[in-house]
Amino acid sequence: MKKILVINSGSSSLKFQLIDMATETMLAKGLCDRIGINDSFLKYTVQGRDSIIINKVMPDHRTALKEAIFALTCKETGVISDVSEIFAVGHRVVHGGERFHDSVIIDEEVMETIKECIKLAPLHNPPNITGIKACQDIMPGIPMVAVFDTAFHQSMPRYAYLYALPYELYTGYGIRKYGFHGTSHKYVARRAAAMLNRPLEELRLISCHLGNGASICAIKNGKSVDTSMGFTPLDGLAMGTRSGTIDPAVVIFLMERKKMTTDEVYEYLNKKSGVLSISGVSSDFRDIQAAASEGNERARLAIDVFCYRVKKYIGEYSAVLGGIDGIIFTAGIGENNDLVREKTLEGLEYLGIKIDKEKNSIARGRELDISVGDAKEKVLVIPTNEELEIARETLKLVGAK
Ligand code: AMP
Repeated sequence: MKKILVINSGSSSLKFQLIDMATETMLAKGLCDRIGINDSFLKYTVQGRDSIIINKVMPDHRTALKEAIFALTCKETGVISDVSEIFAVGHRVVHGGERFHDSVIIDEEVMETIKECIKLAPLHNPPNITGIKACQDIMPGIPMVAVFDTAFHQSMPRYAYLYALPYELYTGYGIRKYGFHGTSHKYVARRAAAMLNRPLEELRLISCHLGNGASICAIKNGKSVDTSMGFTPLDGLAMGTRSGTIDPAVVIFLMERKKMTTDEVYEYLNKKSGVLSISGVSSDFRDIQAAASEGNERARLAIDVFCYRVKKYIGEYSAVLGGIDGIIFTAGIGENNDLVREKTLEGLEYLGIKIDKEKNSIARGRELDISVGDAKEKVLVIPTNEELEIARETLKLVGAK
C-alpha cells in the first residue's frame, strides 16, 4: 500500500496530508500554524474523527514537521506505525518559472532551479524550500517531488502570456504571465471529463477557481491556453483582499499622491482591497452575503463586482476557445455559493448556458451537473482536491522509478 505525504509549506505554517493511494483516501491531515511566532499549535485530524488542537512550541519548520510526524506515528493519534511507511513526499511549490512544465523529482539541480525562481516569487518560494529542506533532513532517503502551481499554464501560447511591455523586460527579468492554481485547474478539468464521459483531449473548458484567491483558466484539449492570474497571483478577478486587474497607473498615483512606499502599495493591493474593501464588511463571502441580505448596499456591490468580473472572463475565454463544452465552478465560493454561480451566469444564455435553479441551490461541496437537461454547454460544480492531485503526480513520478 503506497502512502504519500503531501506538504504545503507557508511562511509561518505547514499543512500536511497523508493519502493512501490504493484507495486515494486521506488518512490524516494537519496544520502547524504560527511557526516561529508565539502560541504555535497543530490542528490535527484523523479521517472520521474530530479534529484536535495540540499546543506546541514550534520555532521553525523542522520542529513543526517533527510534530506532524509524531502525530502521524504515535500510539494515540497515529495512522502509521513508522515514518518508513511513507512511500514518497509531494511538495506544493508556488513558482516554477519557465523551467518547469511538469512536476519533477527533487534533486540538487532541481533545488537550485527552485531557488532561482525566488526572484519571481519572493514571498512564496522561500517557505516552500524551507519545507522541502525540513523533510530532506527528517526523512532522508524518502523520494520527494515538487508540484508547481505554475506548471499547468506553461502550455499557454506566447501571444497569451506576453505583456505589451518593452520586450527586454521579458528576456531580462522574466516578466510575463505565469498563472497560478494550476494544480486545481488540472484536477477539476480531469474530473469534468469523467463527469461528461468524454475524453479531456476534445473538450473546451472554463475552470473558475473561486476562493479567497480566485482565478479562471481556459482549457483546450486538456491544456491551459489562458488564465486570469499573471506575473503574480494579484492579477485578474477581484478576490477576498486582492484587487485583481487595475489600471497600472493607479500604482503611480498611489505613490505620487498618497506618498506610499512600495511595501505600502503591496499591502494595499494584496491585503486591503478586493471584496473586503468594497463591502467594508469582510473578505469572507459568507459574511458579505449575510450583510447583503440585511440590506447593506456595499456588500451587494461587492458581490456584483465579483460576479461581473467572472462573467467577463467567461465571455473572453469563450472567444479564446471558440465555444464552450463545460464551465466548472470550484473552491470555497465556487463549490458552495449558489448565488454567485447564478449571478455570474445570468445573461449568458446566448452562449447556450442554462442552469437548473433547483440543482444549483442544492449543489454544495459535491460534484453535480447543474445545467438544464438539454443544454449542450454543461455547468459543473466540482470540489477541488489539490492534495490528491499532488499525491497523484508524486506517485506517477516516483512509482515509475
Ligand atoms: P477557499 O479560499 O477556497 O477556502 O474559499 C474561501 C471562500 O469560500 C470564503 O469567501 C468563504 O466564504 C467561501 N466558503 C467556504 N466554505 C463555504 C461554505 N460552506 N458555504 C459558503 N461559502 C463558503
